[in-house]
Amino acid sequence: MNICVIGAGYVGLVTGACFAEFGVHVVIAEKDAEKVDALGRGEIPIYEPGLASLVERNMREGRLAFTTDTAEAVRGALVVFIAVQTPPQQDGSTDLSAVDAVASEIGQALNGYKVIITKSTVPVGTSYRVRDRIRAVAGQGGSEPSFSVASNPEFLREGAAIGDLMRPDRVVIGADDETALAIMQDLYRPLFLNETPFVITNIATAELTKYAANAFLATKISFVNELANLCERIGGDVQAIARGIGLDGRIGKKFLHAGPGFGGSCFPKDTRSAAHFARQAGEQLEIVEAVIRVNEQQRVRMVRKIQDAVGGELAGKTVGILGLSFKPETDDVRDAPALDIIRGLQAGGASVRAFDPVAMRAAAALLPDVSFCKDAYEACEDADAAVIVTEWNPFRMLDLARLRAKLKQPVLVDLRNVYEPESLHKAGFEYHSVGR
Ligand code: NAD
Repeated sequence: MNICVIGAGYVGLVTGACFAEFGVHVVIAEKDAEKVDALGRGEIPIYEPGLASLVERNMREGRLAFTTDTAEAVRGALVVFIAVQTPPQQDGSTDLSAVDAVASEIGQALNGYKVIITKSTVPVGTSYRVRDRIRAVAGQGGSEPSFSVASNPEFLREGAAIGDLMRPDRVVIGADDETALAIMQDLYRPLFLNETPFVITNIATAELTKYAANAFLATKISFVNELANLCERIGGDVQAIARGIGLDGRIGKKFLHAGPGFGGSCFPKDTRSAAHFARQAGEQLEIVEAVIRVNEQQRVRMVRKIQDAVGGELAGKTVGILGLSFKPETDDVRDAPALDIIRGLQAGGASVRAFDPVAMRAAAALLPDVSFCKDAYEACEDADAAVIVTEWNPFRMLDLARLRAKLKQPVLVDLRNVYEPESLHKAGFEYHSVGR
């Protein structure tokens, strides 16, 4: 089968490479010519473990190619995945301009029956919006265009994306007609064979399932962060509480880590988008709206925590920030807590030095007044506090004596609770963490 994936970002690139690995012929259409040139030379524009070798092998074996010519890629495919960005707008709603543009391009290129699948995370109703736009553009010649639309939301986690695509917890497919469903089942046959659970439903339900998943995970995070804040008042230990509740199989251990709140390109935008389109539909998602508020306040609290740790006044202080990406194993800094925390520190008059194993280039474009350093120790040189914002492995095993020698005063603010308070006190640090 020949497929086309439109958009070579985190989702499109990994989706295309994984389908190629399953033996499908994939052309990834990307409008950014520089990205396509780089990919052609074997350079991967994002940091994602395992992706470079997967792309290289499948290109070499002739199953994966990149192009800027979307029309040609669409014409040669039976299945077209839309994997372009769907960023948030000021009011929380989703900017669908990239999806609309792609739908028009598909409409212009349509040359026979195809299944057009929305993989981007989109508000309920968007797959029908895509259908209507394709129909309007393709129908201009007078003939009735032949195609189906379907929804196949993506649940991959950056940093573990290849495993998530090759061995997903589940695949959700929303389709309204048997032909589209049969083609998608054929495409996903390798996963059917290894007994991956499939949830097959209608298009609106599939679209909403993606938001429900992200909103639920975000809820766990905001819930545990509220408990952490309460623990700080009453002398509790949020990690023990997370374990105490997480070992209950009905609750589950994951996503119960107190910290600076959720970030990244998905949870913040998807919770706001869900709250927005639910309100438009006449239903308020009160829990989701509270989750968003708690998350925004958590970033402000983290700035206050750092301010308290450096003596109550940020002006004239230097802070060493360890970690910029929204989580380890990715260079993605979109809506990362580090950005708001750094801006909050700077607004209070502090200077910021920072280090991240892979995200400094992306962060530098957004944070002009930060000194980016070659490692964690250089970032903490003469700083009034070291702050762990992202739990990269190297920050879990810092040479504490060396770190202490670099700092102006031995203050460590651990926003990810990676260290045990007692061992840090023993190492001579004034140690601050979250909810302990
Ligand atoms: P991204 O911004 O990394 O990539 C989007 C790509 O699409 C860019 O390279 C862009 O140049 C390209 N593009 C835009 N318009 C185009 C056009 N007309 N023709 C060809 N290419 C075009 O975005 P992403 O992180 O991959 O996310 C894509 C979608 O998947 C979003 O809706 C997102 O919410 C969803 N999603 C993302 C993740 C994630 O972890 N990043 C996980 C699940 C779902």
